[in-house]
Amino acid sequence: ESLGELNGGGATPPHALFIPSAGMGHLMPTFRVIAGLSRQGIDISVVTVLPTVSAAETNYFNGLFADYPTIGRVDMHLLPLDASEFRNEDPFFLRWEALRRSVVHLLGPIITGASPPITAIITDITLTSCVIPIAKELGLPCHVLFPTAATMLAVNAYFPIYLDQLNNMAGPAAGVVGDVDVPGVFCVPRSSLPPPLLDVNKLFTKQFIENSREITKADGVLVNTFDAVEPAPLAALRGGRIVPGYPPVYTIGPLKPHVIPKAGEKAAQKGRDGSLVDEWLGQQPARSVVYVSFGNRSAARLDQIREIAAGLEASGYRFLWVLKTTKVDREDDAELADVLGDGYLERVQGRGLVTKGWVEQEALLKHPAMGMFLSHGGWNSALEAACSGVPLLVWPQLGDHRVNAMGAVRAGIGAWAEHWGWDGEERLVTGEEIAEKVKDVMADAALRESVAVARQEAAKAVAEGGTSYRNMHEFVGKIKKGA
Ligand code: UDP
Ligand code: UDP
Repeated sequence: ESLGELNGGGATPPHALFIPSAGMGHLMPTFRVIAGLSRQGIDISVVTVLPTVSAAETNYFNGLFADYPTIGRVDMHLLPLDASEFRNEDPFFLRWEALRRSVVHLLGPIITGASPPITAIITDITLTSCVIPIAKELGLPCHVLFPTAATMLAVNAYFPIYLDQLNNMAGPAAGVVGDVDVPGVFCVPRSSLPPPLLDVNKLFTKQFIENSREITKADGVLVNTFDAVEPAPLAALRGGRIVPGYPPVYTIGPLKPHVIPKAGEKAAQKGRDGSLVDEWLGQQPARSVVYVSFGNRSAARLDQIREIAAGLEASGYRFLWVLKTTKVDREDDAELADVLGDGYLERVQGRGLVTKGWVEQEALLKHPAMGMFLSHGGWNSALEAACSGVPLLVWPQLGDHRVNAMGAVRAGIGAWAEHWGWDGEERLVTGEEIAEKVKDVMADAALRESVAVARQEAAKAVAEGGTSYRNMHEFVGKIKKGA
């Protein structure tokens, strides 16, 4: 049944094809898995979709191929998508739709034309329902990379079942999405679900549901997390409590960074801003700095940015703030001084550093000066903080962030600013509120202690014999066998 046997028993060398999606939160874990497999001696090709959404994506794709010259690059030019069909859609959702439609037409020929032959497919979650049928048709094993928390994977797995029940109901509740009680996990209140899921006719929701139904046919799901940090959703998924016969869930995190540090060259790549950040951080006392970043996809409004600025100033702490004013980084041409208002940068000089540049967050969080992380709750950020022993203050902005915040609180790696606004429910959070919460978290010794425990658990998970270590080896073994 294996490919080796299909090929007359001769050993077909393993050759894995990755199909990444868009958005750095999706690309970072994908690149980290690619680097991990490549280090295990597996031949890899990566579908590179052109054009990319953001400048960061272009840089990271180029960096991957430069750092790992044996990895094959297969360009895929997106088929045009008539954007007038979708009004006011998020640029990343539009990209996923264009990608999904392109994959249906272009992926088959890419696979059959590859040399040496492809023996395994690994797709990002966003493309699952388009990729799995193609892989099955060609008789290839297909794994799905889920780029966020296992808690969110549990929601993802249960949501179609929940909808089926909803549609079978009579009366006014029929078809109206409410609180979702995920078996064996917890009840996610309607107000904490990714907001687009409340409307089943939304583009994102259609994609989400199709992917959640099709993922049950995958050969396995890879998740950047570790068992000790999310035991309940993992037990529920693996025990078939959410979906009977769900594919194996391979927790393989926290994934190692894929970027290979190269002395000298690395400093040059970092640019002026990066070196400035390193230099400044080096001068700060241990655990004194509040790091602030809302990931790649969340841009705050100007009035909210001003309140965050006031809050950081009023907290009295030192801070490092990575500020984004647009969702797509190529469109971000605002001047910091204009965004923050007259005199702000001068007032906080020395004590606070604000940058609009790309920072190497993973490495920064490991710096002993880091005291806490005010974060949107992207799961990559949450795990990076946990592995560095840095407590989170989660201020969810959109998508899966509130579900992740629930997971982070349960795991003891962070606090959640539960009553601050978010996508569709915006409210201006004042500087005083922000300063208070920041001070609370900086002074929370119990939280710091439980994050330290999580950090140790993370290290154990990836060390020889640990849960993530064993799962990664099992997965690599399958890929090597063509299973
Ligand atoms: N990131 C980074 N530098 C930046 C901004 C982001 O290295 O200036 C990385 C961050 O470390 C994380 C990823 O980009 O690995 C963001 O993913 P996450 O899941 O936290 O949030 P998203 O951007 O998907 O909302
Ligand atoms: N997601 C999913 N299926 C899909 C598309 C997305 O499960 O078809 C997940 C995605 O990984 C994320 C969540 O749904 O956890 C919300 O996606 P969004 O883009 O809003 O958040 P982000 O990727 O920025 O964290």
